Amino acid sequence: MRRPLAVSLALVLLTVLGCRGEGGSAGDGGVSSRPDEAVDVILVTIDTLRADALGFAGNREVSTPVLDRLAAAGRVYPNAHAHNVVTLPSHANILTGRYPFEHGVRDNSGFILPETVPTLASLLKQAGYATAAFVGAYPLDSRYGLGHGFDVYDDDYARGSSPTEFAMAERRGDQVIAPALAWWQSQSGKPRFLWVHLYDPHASYDPPEPFKSKYASKPYLGEIAATDSFLAPLLEPVLAGKETPALVPALVIVTADHGEALGDHGELTHGLFAYEATLRVPLVIWGAGVSPGRDERWARHVDIAPTVLERLGMELPEGLPGRSLLEAPTEGDSYFEALSTNLNRGWAPLRGVIRGGSKWIELPVPELYDLPKDPGEQKNLSGEERRTVAALRSALPEEAVWPPRKGIVSPEEERRLRSLGYSVGGGPAKAVYTADDDPKNLIGVDRRLHQVVDLYSRGSYEEAARLAREVIAERPELAEAYEHAALSLRQLERHAEAVEVLRSGLGKVVADELLRRQLGQALAETGRGAEAVEVLQPFAETGDAATLAALGIALSDAGRHAEGEQVLRKLLAQDGSDPKAHENLGIVLLRMTRAAEARDHLKRAIALNDRLPIAWNTLGVALYQLEGPQGADAALGAWRRAYELDPRQYDALYNTGLVAASLGRQDEARAALSQFARTAPPQRFEADIRKAQALLQEIGG
Ligand SMILES: [Zn+2]
Repeated sequence: MRRPLAVSLALVLLTVLGCRGEGGSAGDGGVSSRPDEAVDVILVTIDTLRADALGFAGNREVSTPVLDRLAAAGRVYPNAHAHNVVTLPSHANILTGRYPFEHGVRDNSGFILPETVPTLASLLKQAGYATAAFVGAYPLDSRYGLGHGFDVYDDDYARGSSPTEFAMAERRGDQVIAPALAWWQSQSGKPRFLWVHLYDPHASYDPPEPFKSKYASKPYLGEIAATDSFLAPLLEPVLAGKETPALVPALVIVTADHGEALGDHGELTHGLFAYEATLRVPLVIWGAGVSPGRDERWARHVDIAPTVLERLGMELPEGLPGRSLLEAPTEGDSYFEALSTNLNRGWAPLRGVIRGGSKWIELPVPELYDLPKDPGEQKNLSGEERRTVAALRSALPEEAVWPPRKGIVSPEEERRLRSLGYSVGGGPAKAVYTADDDPKNLIGVDRRLHQVVDLYSRGSYEEAARLAREVIAERPELAEAYEHAALSLRQLERHAEAVEVLRSGLGKVVADELLRRQLGQALAETGRGAEAVEVLQPFAETGDAATLAALGIALSDAGRHAEGEQVLRKLLAQDGSDPKAHENLGIVLLRMTRAAEARDHLKRAIALNDRLPIAWNTLGVALYQLEGPQGADAALGAWRRAYELDPRQYDALYNTGLVAASLGRQDEARAALSQFARTAPPQRFEADIRKAQALLQEIGG
């Protein structure tokens, strides 16, 4: 029996202190009454939703009847802003009511919200609320710390992804709403706090029917129309009662974590810039005691938590930067940042502040816009309005310096920064960023990286590798370019070249943990386990889960099974619901001839995510080893699942051929062996292909 393939070819690139107290006095900002009974709270966050992509915002190309009804009966804030342009930090801002430099979460990966920071969930739970969250995609996985204070944190999308899938794990909006609604109904009678996160509008834009056909030329708007329809079963009953909020003891807040650029200023999606296309967000508040209308004041994500707490008559935690949007108007400055390309590409960090209608963006080529006069941010006034520039520059919070100085950085953040090559307290990775590092001047590189991902996801590996190498030649510090080049080469079975490309990037790129992890995987795949260990070992203490999973399997590849087992068990002790760790432990245990234990971990991996071809293949091997011909049906079923999920699971095809032939199931054997002989790469499977051909002759294939 063949041993299972060492590692997956896959690399996801993408990539308290509150208590019930006296309510404050009602101001003139929209509070008209305050019912005595407890108020239910529903927070809806829609990912990647532009402020101008909704019917109630004046968009005539999209149909959003549910949200339009909510907006018509609620209070709409057309000038609301996020503080980050990526998912995790933005949600941390909404839930904590604090800025990213206060709670410490600055990007999607590598940061965890510390449990010590109170959130709406932890505060409401303390006040006796039943609390639950239903999230739509991996960036909000419970491992990132947002689950603190929730009785239920449902991130039950299929975790991980198969090697042929090049997307983030996510679930459709209706699959988020169904369990959320069931929870909502099961808790009636108690005060409830429900947060739902719908990921649908995030790229790629592929709405379900009938929206797919109806919005064939505008699939992004199709996703939004679909999202609106998914919300109907949750929001319509709440809105019922002829939309008289005073009769319905509920507070509903709908917003987005960020928008989507759709080509604005040359940006395709989000995360690079902080122009209004991605920084401005929809915001609607509806409920008992909220007077309907359009509120033109500058509103912020950090105002949401104080709005909810004040509305419920609860005390605010100390030092929150926001204020209730329902109270008397006191518009504060709005801080914002976009640090992903600084962290991952070494480009200049982007920070800024909005005061009234003036928006200041601090970059090597600074920008100042007058938003009311110039909502498209076309005329940069930074050279003319010196006094405004000076005022806004000094309004940038001192603590928001980037990279942060020692003392204002959380241990998690410090660890992350160290792994990125930043020396915390010793100054930035680069002493001075110049116009060459300004993301505005690197938009062409960004577009080509998008093109590489696009080519890769369409299976054009040759072209993807070529374009990625062009980007490397121009910007040798971009880890992503090496990763994309190597990933494409690995798909083409050019493993030695992939290893070369990855090695050439070490020492040149900004964040090399991902690069080392992929190098470790590429080395392990070509049987160079000892070299893989050497590359990954430096991350044994500080590496993230995926790196430790790779180290575990590399140790085993190098023949150090017991050490590999130890690393993987440690990983599972931290997060027992990581399917990749269970998969790798299953492989290692099987190699140690502990097939029963291996089977249990592989089954656990598949229970967490049934789209893991390597887990299926290995499970087939374990079952056949344990039960022999009696277990053949189960083993053959597991192998079939493996190569149906990923046609490059050559071992599964070969195993199927051998076992089916031995049981006299000739048709099944013939089909598998001929597919194996036809598709398996000769350089890796030369001897097996010869054996398969001989066997085919024997059984008459
Ligand atoms: Zn997002």
